Amino acid sequence: MDETAVQATLSQLPAVNEILGESDVVGLIERFGRDPVATSVRRELEETRGALRADPAATVPTAPELAQQVRAWFAREERPNLRRVLNATGIVLHTGLGRAPLAAEALQAVQENGGYCNLETDLESGKRSHRGDSVRELLCELTGAEAATVVNNNAAATVLTLRALAAGREVLVSRGQLIEIGGSFRLPDIMETSGALLREIGTTNRTHRSDYEQALSERTALLLRVHSSNYRVVGFVKSTPLVELVELARRAGVRVVDDIGSGALFDIPGLTGGHEPLARESVAAGADVVLFSGDKLLGGPQAGIIVGTADCVELIERDPLMRVVRVDKLALAALEATLRLHRDRQLALTRIPLYQMLSQTEAQLQRRAKALRRRLLRMLPGLDCQVVRTASFVGGGSVPAEEMPSSAVAIRPTGLSLDEAARRLRTGKLAVFPRLEQDQLLFDLRTIQPGEEAALATALASAVTEEIAVRGAR
Ligand SMILES: *Cc1c(COP(=O)(O)O)cnc(C)c1O
Repeated sequence: MDETAVQATLSQLPAVNEILGESDVVGLIERFGRDPVATSVRRELEETRGALRADPAATVPTAPELAQQVRAWFAREERPNLRRVLNATGIVLHTGLGRAPLAAEALQAVQENGGYCNLETDLESGKRSHRGDSVRELLCELTGAEAATVVNNNAAATVLTLRALAAGREVLVSRGQLIEIGGSFRLPDIMETSGALLREIGTTNRTHRSDYEQALSERTALLLRVHSSNYRVVGFVKSTPLVELVELARRAGVRVVDDIGSGALFDIPGLTGGHEPLARESVAAGADVVLFSGDKLLGGPQAGIIVGTADCVELIERDPLMRVVRVDKLALAALEATLRLHRDRQLALTRIPLYQMLSQTEAQLQRRAKALRRRLLRMLPGLDCQVVRTASFVGGGSVPAEEMPSSAVAIRPTGLSLDEAARRLRTGKLAVFPRLEQDQLLFDLRTIQPGEEAALATALASAVTEEIAVRGAR
């Protein structure tokens, strides 16, 4: 077709003003303002012109049709960028998906404190108080420590503590504990940032008490123990127990800081990775400062928790960096609610989603997987999906790759790649994250909260019926 014919086709397109006058679009203008809507109309027209030039024989869309496209674009635009997802990966503390899901009590506290709250005000006297006062006593009660404070996360807690207690002086760390945790937490770099001088001692697999003794000098500020959260050295291994470090440090007049990482407050049923260090044990062993995260095994919001002796906590709080890494009111609200649940072990186990997920037995998970499969089959009778045994992981750089036996629904898409199927599930109305294994999508029930099954099935079914040609797993 020649250029004249193309122009003739293009001239049939409605004008910008005509589309802006469509009732659908008038409603958009009221909500979003005229300028962004007009821009969107022009973009839609421009794209249509491009398409018509490429294929002049195509049907020219009408004003109502273009208005409908503009509305669809705004409907997509309107969705928040940060939004709820369903985690069917079986990775319980998935850093990419927000680590620990909060308890209902914590969510309510976030809601209630989102407006004004007494963040730094004492209600009795009306005077200015300190951020973090709301959780100090709870933290002391739960860990047995003399004093406590909270910052933005455990990485911040580590930098701040080393800076306040050891800037310009030596910190002794076993070579077996110079860890890297996903997301760019590398202990030697953290150390450098704090201004403390790293003195590596021992070897990767063995560090003896005598290694500490020989390295201690008048330059030493403290002994740092770091929980090797995400890996284990097995075999010919030796580390020096915390009580021995404390005894050595006391004699030398230096301090002991214990970064326990995931911050369990009690032995959590269902964890298979051996004994996780407990904050209370480290305090009882005599560590001057104990550091841990709020959103790992504590099951709360992102936070860096610092508990220890009154003089150490005071030095830490006086450091100017404290202001830089301060915790926000929403996290504090959620943390207080989470800690209150921890006052009673049974209450914590039943109310905190993390512990519910970890303590589910394989038999329970299998029952839930079968029910999900039946639900899917009711919605999509032709769907051939099946229940399979699988393994879930704690994740979150907390407990090493310990597997927990679990149960999943497996689906194998045909006609499109697994990656494409997963992309469609992620970008649907409710985003779903399955685990990709060989040629199938696994939906692990451990990380699906009871009550989320219906939403999961709907999201899956709409992805299936709209787009994905699915044949079931074997
Ligand atoms: C996870 C972890 C950190 C970092 O904690 P964040 O709260 O993620 O900043 C530091 N130290 C150890 C031992 C950890 O396991």
